[in-house]
Amino acid sequence: MELLCDAHCHWQDPRLTEVLNDFCPVKHGIKHAMVNATSENDWTEVREIAARFPDIVTASYGLHPWKTTSASKNWITKLENELLANPHAHIGECGLDKWIQGHDLDLQKSLFTQQLSLAQKHQRVATIHCLKAWGSLREILSEYELPKGFLLHSYAGPRDWIPWFVEKGAYFSCSGYFFHDRKQASLNAFHDVPKDRLLLETDAPDMLLPQSMRPGSETANHPQNLRTIYEVATDIFKVTDEQLLRNYTTLFLE
Ligand SMILES: [Zn+2]
Repeated sequence: MELLCDAHCHWQDPRLTEVLNDFCPVKHGIKHAMVNATSENDWTEVREIAARFPDIVTASYGLHPWKTTSASKNWITKLENELLANPHAHIGECGLDKWIQGHDLDLQKSLFTQQLSLAQKHQRVATIHCLKAWGSLREILSEYELPKGFLLHSYAGPRDWIPWFVEKGAYFSCSGYFFHDRKQASLNAFHDVPKDRLLLETDAPDMLLPQSMRPGSETANHPQNLRTIYEVATDIFKVTDEQLLRNYTTLFLE
């Protein structure tokens, strides 16, 4: 029986077009997938993917912090319209990133907070990306109550801040990228995430698993790698597929 839920991925990415042509999620045990947009340019593709896999894919629309400079003048109206047209859609991928070269943190903060306000107003889940900007993220989140909760995808923030984020309504998703030896500390931090707030993700086509855990020498992370991520992570964190399905359902589908 298919139970696997991919809490964060980008099936609309051109690197997966060919793969998805004859992709049957159920065959790989995939029950649900949260497909995140990254900029206005891929909102149409995300909408199409959600229509193609109606029982599996839920769409998230948003502006990724790497794409902030490409935002059009009326992006926020377009985003709100997208949400109004899709009552089950959520918001993402949004957030803050001080790792990327040439970042403009003030601009990122402005676009991020506007997306959080929409999440608040329309009661949607916000999927948050954060790299090297944890202080700013915490500052911003302390000013928001997000009724539907939020996902910190590929969480690699301070381990001792996990309880604070939990208190604010956070869920945390672990990707297969953290199975690399050099990411041991980030992986271990997930031991502190309460079992009912834990999710797993591929971030396909990004966040490749270590070579030894995937079939070929491909450079794009295949959506089917979710099964390996589940096998490894459920063993490490002593959590069941059923619990992870409940967590996904509670956050994204209720
Ligand atoms: Zn992503």
